[in-house]
Amino acid sequence: MSLASSGSRYRIGRILGISVYLHSSWFIIFALISYSLATQFTAQHPAWRPMQHWTLGILASVLFFVSVLVHELGHSMVALRCRLPVNSITLFVFGGLSEIGREPENAKQEFVIALAGPVTSFLLAGLFFAASRLTISSEMAGSLFGWLAEMNFILAAFNLAPGFPLDGGRIFRSIAWGITGDFNRATTLAAHAGQWVSYAMIAWGIVQAVRGDPVGGIWLAFIGWFLLSAARESLTHINMCGSLEGLRASDVMITDVPVISGGMTLEEYAQEVVRTGRRFHNVSVSGQIAGVVSLHAVQQIPRSEWGMTSVQAVMQPWGRIHWASPSEPAVAVLKRMQGEGISLMPVMHGSQWVGTITRDSIMGGAETNPRVSGADNGQRS
Ligand SMILES: [Zn+2]
Repeated sequence: MSLASSGSRYRIGRILGISVYLHSSWFIIFALISYSLATQFTAQHPAWRPMQHWTLGILASVLFFVSVLVHELGHSMVALRCRLPVNSITLFVFGGLSEIGREPENAKQEFVIALAGPVTSFLLAGLFFAASRLTISSEMAGSLFGWLAEMNFILAAFNLAPGFPLDGGRIFRSIAWGITGDFNRATTLAAHAGQWVSYAMIAWGIVQAVRGDPVGGIWLAFIGWFLLSAARESLTHINMCGSLEGLRASDVMITDVPVISGGMTLEEYAQEVVRTGRRFHNVSVSGQIAGVVSLHAVQQIPRSEWGMTSVQAVMQPWGRIHWASPSEPAVAVLKRMQGEGISLMPVMHGSQWVGTITRDSIMGGAETNPRVSGADNGQRS
């Protein structure tokens, strides 16, 4: 589940060394919550001025997302204490996401990292509840803190549902991992549970919508659908890793990558791509294969400059690109490619190019792996 690959995100700051981003989809939910709160306050407190309804609606919405951020910081701080790198926290349409650089090393780490989020939200719920009691004389502050207490409680409880990738699903996985000692088996169990939790959410959302709460119902169904695809994605990933067992980089690379001259202009290169249908090429510079160029890299250059820019100027030279050695396990290569968000990786033997790995070539390698052929590859949905 990588948000970086879909839509753009905006960096809003850094907390504890972790970059915090707003994903483009977040603005929709922020506007929606502010609007629905202003409407709700208008109905509950008709004596207030519209300005008051809107100020409180926006303020509550901001503080709600601060709460979501603090929930994510709860996970991140524990992850950092476990010496796991935290790359970023992103707020998006369905809440928050901490991108932790590595999987936890053991079941206990996973357990405490997962639990930290809901515990943080329960604490926030308690604090906001106390604040609502202390400010009972002010109707506005009372409504604000009361709503925030309720929302943080719901956030914590919702996240404890035992389906991966929700926090509760991770807690479930850590317990299964601790009992079975098998991370992949535990993930498979938790992801299956995640599918059932998602189906239940979608069904409950539809019931709610029919019963007269269309917005809330459709919303819940959408979250269920999002979680369903995330659970399926992790199952596919586990199956993929299983199918790659025993394979090395040299088993999943392609070697028939066409070579073009670095002196070619981008205009000529674009025609070559159209003519051959190949999306990336090795580039030869003074008789040596010196790097790789892809259609994607060319598209970053303004169209008007294609006639006077050489392929050599936009290629990625071997020295400035992530590469694999022929003996590196294929699973490790796949993890690095996913971690870095890259779609192709050259395989180098010393300074010599020997092949290129793409996501398609890895998949092809997994499907024809002689070591696991005939075995149950599980669900590929
Ligand atoms: Zn969480």
